Amino acid sequence: MTASYNPWRDARDRYPDYLINFKRELPPGMRGCIKGKTIYVCRTLTQEARRFTLVHEVCHLDTGILHTGDPRVELMIDRMAARRLITPDEFVDALAWSRRSNHECADELGVDGYALKVWVQSLNKDERRYITSRLRRRGEP
Ligand SMILES: [Zn+2]
Repeated sequence: MTASYNPWRDARDRYPDYLINFKRELPPGMRGCIKGKTIYVCRTLTQEARRFTLVHEVCHLDTGILHTGDPRVELMIDRMAARRLITPDEFVDALAWSRRSNHECADELGVDGYALKVWVQSLNKDERRYITSRLRRRGEP
């Protein structure tokens, strides 16, 4: 795993008054939530999904948008979270390393397939161009 961003450290450093609880099983469909000063991350998730969920919850705190059932807002928060976990350079390295297998690429980045998909969708034109040019420079098609 090459990922440089550490959500546990970030949460602890910037929200020291919050507890992170990942020992509870949350209701079906709920990956994480914030109640009072506790960030819950469902214990049945994979390590990669737990990482992503914690960043997602931290992004809720950062934006001040806490309780929402709006799928558009949740997607926006998901994209924000994915962008913290993956940089274009890390993506290029992981993609080259994994020989373009989505699963291995996500693994290498320490995220799940969903986070990788959301991240790719969040890229703007300049970022796509940058990634393409870096891949070409490495001799990737
Ligand atoms: Zn959310």
